[in-house]
Amino acid sequence: MRHLRSICVFCGSRDGARPSYRDIAFNTGRLLSSRNIELVYGGASVGLMGAVADGVIEMGGRVTGVIPHGLADRERIHAGATEIILVDTMHTRKARMAELSDAFIALPGGMGTLEEFTEIFTWAQLGIHGKPFGLLNVEGFYDPFVQMLDHMVAEGFLSAHDRAMVCVHEDIAALVDMLSAWEPPATTIWRH
Ligand code: AMP
Repeated sequence: MRHLRSICVFCGSRDGARPSYRDIAFNTGRLLSSRNIELVYGGASVGLMGAVADGVIEMGGRVTGVIPHGLADRERIHAGATEIILVDTMHTRKARMAELSDAFIALPGGMGTLEEFTEIFTWAQLGIHGKPFGLLNVEGFYDPFVQMLDHMVAEGFLSAHDRAMVCVHEDIAALVDMLSAWEPPATTIWRH
């Protein structure tokens, strides 16, 4: 098992419909900090994004936020972050977060979360990075997405090999263990 120094967390800029989502996000932050893993995220104080950072900060851990200038008002910069990196565009934000992170996790979220996570997935498929990535499938939130992945495999649009790269667990401690034990696949670009 390797030590992950930093994990990028993608999650909703909203709280979601269930009170448990905020608790799960907060506990994710606490767990990362207890394992001495730095949080890299979108830098906001709103929604689950803010709750993850709050959890890390409560435990005295390190938080790096990456946020575009244009979004800093709407999503409000988290005042407790250890470091805030201001960037020009959404694209730069994602690239910077990816550079700074040893692994990636998606918590429940909306289109932004899905877009960020699926980009990391596609970059892994193309061999652009060899870092582990996973879904925290709390409240069965990602069941439909996992079904969609299996559907893509069944219909011949996603290889079983690439499908197997994504870690999925309902428990954050177990998910981090999976990511730590993950071995990068022998990637060939445009594999069929
Ligand atoms: P959401 O899951 O939609 O609440 O968004 C979560 C985060 O993703 C927020 O910080 C959004 O600003 C961000 N986001 C939304 N759309 C994009 C995008 N196209 N590229 C990168 N980040 C995005």
